[in-house]
Amino acid sequence: MLQTTVKTYQNYINGEWVESVNKETFESINPADTNDIVGRFQSSTEEDVIKAIEAASDAFQEWANTSPSKRAQILNKAAAILESKVDQYGEELTREEGKILSGAKGEVQRTAQTLRYYAVEGLSFTGETFPNDDPNMDVFTQREPLGVVSVITPWNFPISIPARKIAPALITGNTVVFKPSSDTPLIAVRLVEALHEAGIPKGVINFVTGSASKVGDALVTHPAIRAVTFTGSTGAGEDIHRKASLTTRTQMELGGKNPLIVMEDADIDHAAQLAVNGGFSLTGQACTGTSRVIVMESVADEFVQKLIEKTQSQTIGNGLNPDTKIGPLANNKQLKNVLNYIEIGKEEGAELVYGGNHLTDSEFSNGYYVEPAIFTNVSPTMRIAKEEIFGPVIAVITVNSYEDAIQIANDVEYGLSASIVTKDIGLAKRFTREIEAGTVKVNRTTTGNLINAPFGGLKKSSTSTFRESGRVGLEFFTQIKTVYIGY
Ligand code: NAP
Repeated sequence: MLQTTVKTYQNYINGEWVESVNKETFESINPADTNDIVGRFQSSTEEDVIKAIEAASDAFQEWANTSPSKRAQILNKAAAILESKVDQYGEELTREEGKILSGAKGEVQRTAQTLRYYAVEGLSFTGETFPNDDPNMDVFTQREPLGVVSVITPWNFPISIPARKIAPALITGNTVVFKPSSDTPLIAVRLVEALHEAGIPKGVINFVTGSASKVGDALVTHPAIRAVTFTGSTGAGEDIHRKASLTTRTQMELGGKNPLIVMEDADIDHAAQLAVNGGFSLTGQACTGTSRVIVMESVADEFVQKLIEKTQSQTIGNGLNPDTKIGPLANNKQLKNVLNYIEIGKEEGAELVYGGNHLTDSEFSNGYYVEPAIFTNVSPTMRIAKEEIFGPVIAVITVNSYEDAIQIANDVEYGLSASIVTKDIGLAKRFTREIEAGTVKVNRTTTGNLINAPFGGLKKSSTSTFRESGRVGLEFFTQIKTVYIGY
């Protein structure tokens, strides 16, 4: 790609776009073409983060006292700004993260919807009143904002995940310091720009880019931080959770190893399509992506054959090409990790029945491309059946009963999402009770969740304390006081 001038983007602290104190920058690279530099961003230091936290701290009281309708107005205005730029921001997102253009535009639209959703839902989020025996006393709870909230987010949904944290934080009266993934800072800039243009008061949202190794600790351990809402890997989540003090609330949305169970009575064509969509969309880089298919032996051959056929028809390429169904992996670390797991699978004795090659010829030569991989003869104890790969790799495990399937499905440390394909409603209901997952689906992909419904994992997929999304997504950002008024 012909490189035009590369723009340098800044941090946003106390209502101003500013350089980091050391004036150093890093580059965001297009994973479809590593010669394409998407932008330069501030390599912030702890000092920058402290400035951002202090600005958020100073702005807190006034924002907490700002009328909810004024806060909602700003979210609605920011949503309209994003909607007016879906085409531009969608292309930028694809260029920066690699996902296909329709998905990128859809994500920008979903971000606007999320801002609007919380602009409405936040206005009716309230406490409860409690009957009591004293006729001259009222007892009720009132909800109050926490203070300064750190928002730390990954690259795979680099604008919609921040929005589902920032919107409920702001509407309930908190102020925010936002650190995006170092792989996708540009689309995060766009979200902050929209809030800035919408008239958010200075200090209410602050934005700092840079490596977690330099800025991560301050975002978690600074005494003014009342809460950390984080989405990312389980390793990083455990680290943050351990470092946070007793008075810092944490919400950790982490990794997954999501199973799709295919029963004998399933529509096998539909089941194979669910596996392809759940396992390979977003190049397998969805936290809720299908990484294990647990299939009944009697239908396993038919299922695998259809899975291969459907996978073959998925065009791999640059996400900006309208025919592309599978884009590149998001970064070099991802590429190495996925290729490593494909080797591990082979060494463990699983059979690679489709794909798994590193693509390096012609149009793929400058990108992080890998063919989606399908393994059969996978035993539940293999690493490819247990560990999060976070790439386009499906491990097919064959079983003879629902009981075996559910036991294997639950025998991992994660519990994010799971699905079963069956026509048997009774079995489906039993599955919803027995599966250890925060998102449970029947005859649908493991991926995808509604803006207005709770989202989060069990076991090592989450802190399991507070859910994101929906009305309950507001709970994390408020504390309750119980008030007794006698008169
Ligand atoms: P990651 O490496 O954990 O990074 C996520 C974010 O945390 C980035 O902004 C990163 O900054 C920062 N970070 C990393 N270590 C940190 C630390 N010790 N302290 C403070 N901040 C830290 O994850 P990723 O590679 O971006 O995303 C992939 C992972 O996210 C997968 O495991 C996936 O399952 C998970 N995920 C979960 C959900 C969910 O809702 N459960 C949704 C999407 C993704 P730098 O970029 O500067 O390193």
